[in-house]
Amino acid sequence: MKNLKIGILGATGAVGQKFIRLLEGHPWFTIKGLGASERSAGKPYHKAAHWIEDIELPESVSKIEVTQCDPEHFKGIDFVFSGLDSSVATEIERSLAEAGIPIISNAKNYRMDESVPLLIPEINPDHISMIESQSFTEDGNGWIVTNPNCVCVPLAMSLRPFYDFFGIESVIVTSMQAVSGAGYPGVSSLDIMGNVVPHIGGEEDKIHTEPLKILGALGDANKITLADFKVQATAVRVPTIEGHLLSVSVKLRNEPDHIDDIHRAIKEWVNPISEYDLPSAPSKPIHLYKQPCFPQPRLHAGREGGMQLGIGRLRKDSIMDISYLALAHNTIRGAAGGAILNAELLAEKGYL
Ligand code: NAP
Repeated sequence: MKNLKIGILGATGAVGQKFIRLLEGHPWFTIKGLGASERSAGKPYHKAAHWIEDIELPESVSKIEVTQCDPEHFKGIDFVFSGLDSSVATEIERSLAEAGIPIISNAKNYRMDESVPLLIPEINPDHISMIESQSFTEDGNGWIVTNPNCVCVPLAMSLRPFYDFFGIESVIVTSMQAVSGAGYPGVSSLDIMGNVVPHIGGEEDKIHTEPLKILGALGDANKITLADFKVQATAVRVPTIEGHLLSVSVKLRNEPDHIDDIHRAIKEWVNPISEYDLPSAPSKPIHLYKQPCFPQPRLHAGREGGMQLGIGRLRKDSIMDISYLALAHNTIRGAAGGAILNAELLAEKGYL
């Protein structure tokens, strides 16, 4: 039985609130500290946060006093989740790691650092050992693990079976991203209601690079050799609330003879963490929809507690080799839920 005291940095934001919701009643992790900016520090959580979840704010956190995110306030905590704004995450996360506090972060700042795992438990669990190359503390107690950008999660998860079976030469992806991906208050209603915004600042660069690290091979000395394919991304904001839908086309290295071979790649893909009994793990991480109008954000993003990736409209493509739609819940699978699953795997493997 694991019983770990945890903190949340950026606890008042959209991702921070999702952490609070998902961790309520968690069998292994108990919230003991909540950090945010000096605007929120010193207030009880219910006054500091503008609660946007559709459940009542859990009583267990409502009266916890929000603090600033310095190590002093997180002494005695076993590890922290971070949902910090990227403008402040570099310094704050480093200072906690240097104080010997493990960080499991949603922020982009350390994702491409060569000693930091960019982890999706079902996709690259072996990358965890990169932690051992980190030097935040001499005894190795302080470290950082990140989870990918909320588009890169469904992209990398959906590519894994094709990468393993056929190899990948190139990928073209258009992401239709929900408004919750911009945090709170996010995009102005006048910009997004009845509209599509054809640019999301900084997003496409992450989609070009992160999948190559996630699908990269772990070699000697815990170094990653990046996967050898190119990604071209177009990221647009659409007026959905939760769930990023991706239209993906893939040029494979070895062209499959038949559409059945493509379907078989997904059916025969083996989930490498199915042996562990992790509380947040979906029983079926990847679901292939046969209905032509599925998956849809409103109907399917919440499947298996928001932790399942949906793939639909999988078909041969006359220019690339295959095309499909992929859907994942951005603030759960693509953020807080993914980070919690990372922590569960890290705890199971004895890192926490
Ligand atoms: P958000 O709603 O804007 O929340 C940002 C959080 O950072 C708030 O708790 C805020 O606290 C805190 N913060 C801001 N300035 C600070 C400072 N100087 N010191 C300490 N804390 C500070 O953003 P979000 O959508 O939750 O995203 C959080 C992080 O997760 C970002 O790095 C984002 O890129 C990443 N992410 C988001 C999603 C998503 O779908 N939303 C998905 C994956 C990754 P105050 O309330 O006190 O200002």
